[in-house]
Amino acid sequence: MTPGRSSERPAPEPDPTADQATKDAMSNATTVSPAHSASTASTLITNIAALVTNDPSLGDGTPLGLIQGAAVVIEGDRIAWTGDQSKAPATDNRVDAGGRAVLPGFVDSHSHLVFAGDRTQEFNARMSGRPYSAGGIRTTVAATRAATDEELEANLTRYLAEALRQGTTTFETKSGYGLTTEDESRALRVASRHTAEVTYLGAHIVAPEFAQDPAAYVALVTGEMLDACAPYARWIDVFCEKGAFDGDQARAILTAGTARGLHPRIHANQLSYGPGVRLAVELDAASADHCTHLTEEDIDALANSRTVATLLPGAEFSTRAEWPNARRLLDAGVTVALSTDCNPGSSFTSSVPFCVALAVRDMGMTPDEAVWSATAGGAAALRRTDIGRLTPGAYADLMLLDAPSHVHLAYRPGVPLVTGVWRRGERVL
Ligand SMILES: [Zn+2]
Repeated sequence: MTPGRSSERPAPEPDPTADQATKDAMSNATTVSPAHSASTASTLITNIAALVTNDPSLGDGTPLGLIQGAAVVIEGDRIAWTGDQSKAPATDNRVDAGGRAVLPGFVDSHSHLVFAGDRTQEFNARMSGRPYSAGGIRTTVAATRAATDEELEANLTRYLAEALRQGTTTFETKSGYGLTTEDESRALRVASRHTAEVTYLGAHIVAPEFAQDPAAYVALVTGEMLDACAPYARWIDVFCEKGAFDGDQARAILTAGTARGLHPRIHANQLSYGPGVRLAVELDAASADHCTHLTEEDIDALANSRTVATLLPGAEFSTRAEWPNARRLLDAGVTVALSTDCNPGSSFTSSVPFCVALAVRDMGMTPDEAVWSATAGGAAALRRTDIGRLTPGAYADLMLLDAPSHVHLAYRPGVPLVTGVWRRGERVL
């Protein structure tokens, strides 16, 4: 938070250029009359029908901190002021939101974007009820190993641009399709050029070369591979599931990562009941991801912890699987995040709005809860307080919807409503 700034700070003085600026903005809905360099200039976004701040002390007092007839001031890369538009301070530039909704940029806290190839045939067979015996994740591992660094980066950049057009301003992404020391570390090196939220997932599956000796693969993941990957990563993750890594292996892998300064998160309880969620709580993981098959004990453990339950409905959609029960988690007091799980095998969507619509339609979330979980919830899953909210001091990461309310994200599924995106104070869409 920036000290000395209040969301209710009155306008210090009238701005003689404001009227002309407003007219220009009305005709062109873009930033006008820049008076200072981009790094220090202030921009007012006003005439916002509904502003989601995610600060319950603002606006209507709900978790969304909704303000109607609102304005936001961006200064440099941060939010400088949020409040009723009639009290907005003078600024260098002015944007008229035209009675539309503004909300924080989406925080997609779970994706797998460093890969090559795709798995169209596998998806087509699954959705057509035909048997398909190709290698699943192994197919992507082979394509990823065969790709050049440039190909991997071009692929990543393409999916990031796609996500940005749909309002995602922060994303986490993982390795996990290399499964050798060299291929895992280069995946993380490529990812780290695009985000600070990089996760080492050498323990996605047991590498094919180690199929007969999983213990040796765990030794590699916690030894030489970890040494090579730790410099590029913030997080360590493991796929704790039957057929991947069991609870003891997952504990050994996450503990080794913690000893190297990485923070744990985990793929847990996606396909079946298991120890993943309770292990996440035991290790104070930032997030337990998927959470589709949960016992009452799992939910109690989450509710009494700092661990966020990250739900990934794109995976259930793309595999015609049972939905996670968001309502049960929310009613128990668990913090819930919503993310895409974007990956070529089980959830090939980069669209957070699509996940919001699914969560509302099929997982028992209200539109308000789903929007909170895709913004502030994602930030909580990354243990961040500087994103996912539009309050003074937070990064100026926000989106303008071509709709009067955030509810339209669920009400109008599949419609490209995002019409403006600012990241770090700069308009990028
Ligand atoms: Zn995943």
